[in-house]
Amino acid sequence: MDQQASGARAPRAWRPRRVLVTRSAMTFAHGRQIAERAAAQGIKVVALAGDRLNLAFPDDPRRAYAEAKNTLAVTVAPPSKRRLQPIAPSADWRVDLAEGCPAHCSYCYLAGSLKGPPITRVYANLDEILGTLPDYLGRGTITSRSDARAHEGTTFEASCYTDPLALEPLTGSLSAAIAWFGAWQADAQLRFTTKFADVTPLLALDHGGRTRMRASLNPPAFARFEGGTARVHDRLAALARMATAGYPVGLTIAPIIAAAGWEEAYGALIADAAAALAGLPDLDLTVELITHRFNTGSKAVLDSWYPGSALDMSETNRVTKRTKFGAEKQVYDAATMRSLRGFFERQIADALPAARILYST
Ligand code: SF4
Repeated sequence: MDQQASGARAPRAWRPRRVLVTRSAMTFAHGRQIAERAAAQGIKVVALAGDRLNLAFPDDPRRAYAEAKNTLAVTVAPPSKRRLQPIAPSADWRVDLAEGCPAHCSYCYLAGSLKGPPITRVYANLDEILGTLPDYLGRGTITSRSDARAHEGTTFEASCYTDPLALEPLTGSLSAAIAWFGAWQADAQLRFTTKFADVTPLLALDHGGRTRMRASLNPPAFARFEGGTARVHDRLAALARMATAGYPVGLTIAPIIAAAGWEEAYGALIADAAAALAGLPDLDLTVELITHRFNTGSKAVLDSWYPGSALDMSETNRVTKRTKFGAEKQVYDAATMRSLRGFFERQIADALPAARILYST
């Protein structure tokens, strides 16, 4: 029986075995606060003499993976990282408060995006990162061309390279960003999606309706692919609490896995989401549908991180698709994509008629 179906306890807040803080990170109040928070929780904090992490991991890939996943580095985002990249279709721009994630999803998209051992880095110069955002105001490509999203202003996605809620008990970065957007009297929106559920610190923030939280979901039947994340039931309950606190919310159904029994599993998931959100006044709900994909590089990394995973990354039902930058990815074939898309559109129209589907990919 999987964790979620069994009703097992939700994971506790992440406690890395060590927190490394670079010398430059210590010059920022936010960096010092993260170090103090970690120390107050009894976590080993190492103040580095310089800015290089000099990480040495065991040769054994399993142990190296475990050590890396238990390491949080507090660093400074350099100017190159503070130049934002467009990130269609999720948002106009990608803003990184951190990179890496403590969970263990066997499809994790970070495997194809981040290089090296999977440590988590959080940026101490949060004020500098947020301070660049006004330069991008009104320069969106998604919201300017989409009627469904134009009213959201310029959108900034904080979950491209991390799950910011997973890190929140240690970093406070997400709360600070939400409060920053709340105070920013601009036509803009912060967005984050999460497989975690402890939203308590976010509920009382002065968010001004300018942050949209989405719960990233897969059916409990596929929980075996989402190690170390919160139970689906808890994610939906967290989303309902955020909606009650006046946040716009959403469902990121991702990655959609066309494994045996997917119709029943996703049908039940949408029904559960509808039940969790039923009766909430003024619900502003969006849905994003993202099918499972991978490429040769991410598959090799994931195979090394999760040998023996039951997640199907074979060529069955797959075709190769080229991105506009020439990179290849393996996506479901046209017939499977059509059947997934039709299914989700019907189910969502029936169970969540007020929801807006932002995109399906
Ligand atoms: Fe990767 Fe998201 Fe899972 Fe974290 S929660 S391991 S970022 S897929």
